[in-house]
Amino acid sequence: LDPEQKDYLGTVRDAAQHLLGIVNDVLDFAKIEAQRLELDIASFDLIQLMEHTIKPTAIQAQQQGLDLSLEIDPLVPPYLQGDPGRLRQIVVNLVSNALKFTESGSIWINVRKQRITDKEATLTFSVKDTGIGIPPEKHPTIFESFRQAEGSTTRRFGGTGLGLAICKQLVALMEGDIWVDSSLGRGSTFSF
Ligand code: ADP
Repeated sequence: LDPEQKDYLGTVRDAAQHLLGIVNDVLDFAKIEAQRLELDIASFDLIQLMEHTIKPTAIQAQQQGLDLSLEIDPLVPPYLQGDPGRLRQIVVNLVSNALKFTESGSIWINVRKQRITDKEATLTFSVKDTGIGIPPEKHPTIFESFRQAEGSTTRRFGGTGLGLAICKQLVALMEGDIWVDSSLGRGSTFSF
């Protein structure tokens, strides 16, 4: 293809991927409403999963001039059972938000061990950014569906307000919790 055709097709691909993201969010939201959202349990390699998940976002971070790093506590067991697809979805969602709301600085992704028994691993995943931050009074509402921290008329950023609501449901299915530590202008850390 000549450069102009390549450019047009790139735009078409980006638009299609964006639309697919919205369709998938709406489908997940419909499953939550119907109480049909379920986990699909399989064995997986956590390090491989995290590295594959971060790769596309690392390229985007580089294009935006942001540093992106991934750190996995060596005490985290590498082979786990869980829903790797849904785990990936949560991480992608949090990292995409970090990219969207951070103009300069860095994004730091961290996986830590909390508690390991013979049968269960309790882990904490965190995504920390140096972006615009969220005022404390908005912390409870951003995890609700169709809620965004800034008013719709003043919005600079796209989005549906469904991502965190879906993450919250998925984390609950994994018997976990999701929370944010942030204040306006001082970046955000989302953990689950
Ligand atoms: P969306 O990003 O589609 O608007 P989400 O449910 O993912 O929906 O996020 C809800 C809102 O929470 C966002 O609109 C934004 O106001 C706020 N938010 C989420 N992540 C961040 C972040 N990393 N930094 C600042 N604000 C954030």
